[in-house]
Amino acid sequence: MSNKIPRVPVREQDPRVRVTNFEEVCYGYNLEEARLEASRCLHCRKPRCVEHCPVSIQIPDFIRQVAEGNLEEAASIIAEDSSLPSVCGRVCPQESQCEGACVLGVKGEPVAIGKLERFVGDWNIAHGSLSVEKCPANGKKVAVIGSGPAGLACASDLAKAGYQVKIFEALHRPGGVLEYGIPEFRLPKEKVVAAEVENVKRLGVEIETDVIVGRTVTIDELMDREGYSAVFIGSGAGLPRFMNIPGENLNGVVSANEFLTRTNLMKAYDDRYDTPIYVGHKVVVVGGGNVAMDAVRTAARLGAEAYIVYRRGEAELPARQEEVHHAKEEGIAFHMLTNPTEILGSEAGWVRAIRCIRMELGEPDASGRRSPIPIPGSEFELECDVVIMALGTSPNPLIASTTAGLETNRWGCLVADDNGQTTRPGIFAGGDAVTGAATVILAMGAGRKAAQAIDRYLSDQPA
Ligand SMILES: Cc1cc2nc3c(=O)[nH]c(=O)nc-3n(C[C@H](O)[C@H](O)[C@H](O)COP(=O)(O)OP(=O)(O)OC[C@H]3O[C@@H](n4cnc5c(N)ncnc54)[C@H](O)[C@@H]3O)c2cc1C
Ligand code: SF4
Repeated sequence: MSNKIPRVPVREQDPRVRVTNFEEVCYGYNLEEARLEASRCLHCRKPRCVEHCPVSIQIPDFIRQVAEGNLEEAASIIAEDSSLPSVCGRVCPQESQCEGACVLGVKGEPVAIGKLERFVGDWNIAHGSLSVEKCPANGKKVAVIGSGPAGLACASDLAKAGYQVKIFEALHRPGGVLEYGIPEFRLPKEKVVAAEVENVKRLGVEIETDVIVGRTVTIDELMDREGYSAVFIGSGAGLPRFMNIPGENLNGVVSANEFLTRTNLMKAYDDRYDTPIYVGHKVVVVGGGNVAMDAVRTAARLGAEAYIVYRRGEAELPARQEEVHHAKEEGIAFHMLTNPTEILGSEAGWVRAIRCIRMELGEPDASGRRSPIPIPGSEFELECDVVIMALGTSPNPLIASTTAGLETNRWGCLVADDNGQTTRPGIFAGGDAVTGAATVILAMGAGRKAAQAIDRYLSDQPA
């Protein structure tokens, strides 16, 4: 398959300018660009793009409406399956999902589905007031724990199905990682995250912030005393991992989660906020995923010389290609095939350098990626005053440890079947809390599946 119209490029902020600010990197399409890009779609009879979308958005249908300039119709087609199009259009790994499967990608460039979704989502935020069809209220209450993509998707579908839904969120702002993890320059908080959370509330979903389930209230209290017939746990995986190497307790070593929460949720980059953040002059970020890219690009914007240290090669980087490309454009240096062995400190207990060893790639490991092997005698020191660990996260054990009958696996993830049913009847779970750190769209897909399972479970219960 081919198409004579080349993929429409998207406008971006100049890398030399954007590395000095927190404004959004990508400007997105205007109407003319979006219609031209949408006109490339072949409207396949069996659209592979839809098969590879974890929430099954009717992609060719919405794209057809964009091509014809019917943006309200395009927005309502997406709204049937997703409450977060502006978010997903910005951060989903489309290259390995819908766009990765698009037939146009076989011989050329796939349709820019993500950029079109973002365009429609942004149009809807600016102009739309979609009236989504809802079932009549059925009088049943469901509690959702966590307001990240899993919780928001589950709550939206349950509200559409007629349930009275309340989300309990530990932080003071809803959105989960969208709000506290992914930086403003990739995902604007007021313009996009808050606006799409507002759309979820318009469906009738109530959100109570500053409630830590397991501390402020337990799941059993929600079910036995507050009348919730079912609970969905979408509490994410917010517990950072460290390397357990000498020197990790020095001043200047921090987890990417803390560093990003200070900048995003607590707005440390904005002079109008008092949130302290220590960046130093030279920052080493250990890791190669999206979180590492976000941390290193944030450190650069806060004025530091910032490096990535990653133990495998470029081909093995788990971060989205677009993020790696943007980081390189912004002058981030990559130390590949390099693994830290020790963090070195000054007499006063502050980081002064990181000792690393060079690696080479051996046979593929269980993940299918070639495993890194240390090269004896290749140790060297890299001068730095801050080390940010971006090595992955696991679920916080609080909810499992305060709810009898909820099983976890050896990584601390809640045990749940494909429909989100946990080991306790009436309690469902999905997203990072079940899979460990994954993606926004997989969390949304899990939230939607669990909503269907909750609906089936409660429909079978006596009124
Ligand atoms: C820095 C960073 C960058 C990322 N970049 C991308 C990207 O580009 N693309 C992508 O697809 N994915 C990305 N991800 C991963 C993605 O954000 C997550 O997979 C996704 O947000 C998981 O959604 P979730 O709803 O399961 O959990 P979360 O988004 O973590 O939300 C869980 C929510 O539950 C709340 N909570 C936790 N415990 C409790 C409790 N006891 N009581 C009440 N509330 C509680 C938390 O405060 C949080 O708000 C990134 C992650 C990070 C950290
Ligand atoms: S696979 Fe590509 S060309 Fe076919 S319907 Fe989907 S977006 Fe259009």
